[in-house]
Amino acid sequence: MCKCEWILCPVCGNKTRVKIRENTILENFPLFCPKCKQEKIINVKQLKISVVKEPDAKTQSR
Ligand SMILES: [Zn+2]
Repeated sequence: MCKCEWILCPVCGNKTRVKIRENTILENFPLFCPKCKQEKIINVKQLKISVVKEPDAKTQSR
């Protein structure tokens, strides 16, 4: 049995094109959401997704 899940975008909740399995481990993975066209850095472990906050990532805001 394959326990696979699509990663949901932490911003808009949209399904991304990235699938994870229950034994998938991702660290600092750049998750791209086709809907908001943003990249979020995430960690994944045991189907749990947590967003990594990068303090110095593109702090320039207009
Ligand atoms: Zn999104």
